Amino acid sequence: MAVDHEALVAMLDRLKLTAIRDQLDTLLDEASRSEMTLREALAFFVGREIARRDERRIQMASKIAQFPFVRELDGFEFDAQPSLDPRQIRELATCRWIAHGDTALLMGPPGTGKTHLAVALGREAIRQNYSVQFVTAATLVALLAKAHMDGTLEKQLTLLSRPKLLIIDELGYLPFEAEAAHLFFQLVSRRYEKGSILITSNRSVGEWGSVFGDPVVATAILDRLLHHSTVITIRGDSYRLREKRRSGLLQKTGPALGATENAAQ
Ligand code: ADP
Ligand code: MG
Repeated sequence: MAVDHEALVAMLDRLKLTAIRDQLDTLLDEASRSEMTLREALAFFVGREIARRDERRIQMASKIAQFPFVRELDGFEFDAQPSLDPRQIRELATCRWIAHGDTALLMGPPGTGKTHLAVALGREAIRQNYSVQFVTAATLVALLAKAHMDGTLEKQLTLLSRPKLLIIDELGYLPFEAEAAHLFFQLVSRRYEKGSILITSNRSVGEWGSVFGDPVVATAILDRLLHHSTVITIRGDSYRLREKRRSGLLQKTGPALGATENAAQ
């Protein structure tokens, strides 16, 4: 059967197999060069199409998630953070906890990689087809307070309950007003046992009473958050400061080297 190039491209177009269409000649060459069987060649072509769709889906979902930066688990140096058990992070990366609607809390001083890990775990969740939303605690509280004022709280709570994983970054940097704490409680209750929450905080759980202003609300929030949860506490030095210290050491070897090291930061 003779099939000309144009006709084949038109068929691929019609089925929206754009990855195969765009790489058609390369894929055909590769298949014949490696002497693939027809079955192998079909799997090879379809595999390319799936790979492109996955890539697009991950890109789109990452945009929707609004991560502050791109970070992956591969880029995390566990050696630099000995208090952290890599197995715990790898377990979280399986996303089983998200399938169950559980909670994860990442605690530690500033600069110890909490946001890095939160983003990397969020991207992993997206790869496994979970919807993810990233928000800082300050932005979240502002959103809820505004919705409360505008009479759209219900709508906002529904929106924030939609993603399967909600990442709330930097809880505890700013203490909550009494009303904010109550709104936060409503969100946590709404998501409880339905959608996962990952919280990063520079405060230990024991200090949350002062974060939420009111120990009763704090207890109610913690009660739900800790029920099915993984709590990871990082006790270590700031990675940022560690890098600074390193460059400080290098600076002693000569001003020129020190200058480039600083510029590279
Ligand atoms: P935190 O949220 O705990 O304040 P971040 O996650 O923002 O800290 O980390 C600060 C910077 O240092 C980020 O650019 C992050 O990627 C990097 N970083 C922190 N810890 C590590 C680590 N162990 N390995 C690699 N990069 C790290
Ligand atoms: Mg952070």
